[in-house]
Amino acid sequence: MDARARKAAKAAYRQRRREEDWQALGLTPDQLADLKQFLEDHGVDECSDAFDLTRAWAADAGLDWGDVERGLRSQAAFCDCEVLTVDPDTSN
Ligand SMILES: [Zn+2]
Repeated sequence: MDARARKAAKAAYRQRRREEDWQALGLTPDQLADLKQFLEDHGVDECSDAFDLTRAWAADAGLDWGDVERGLRSQAAFCDCEVLTVDPDTSN
């Protein structure tokens, strides 16, 4: 494989990983941005060790909490403050 083909293969791999992560997360980029804004607006500076705010947001957005929680856990978020670190576009 020459350098250009290798670079293209790497880019394709990263793109695929991003798509898989978004799929696993189960939220659109707009929804994730909206959720993070919600968390910041409600001051998630202290770790609650729970998804209290995220849960409220999901209920408000009419999303199934089980799906949302599963998606967030798949991206290594286990509480409200960790949701702020979820970013499928840069995590790879
Ligand atoms: Zn936390």
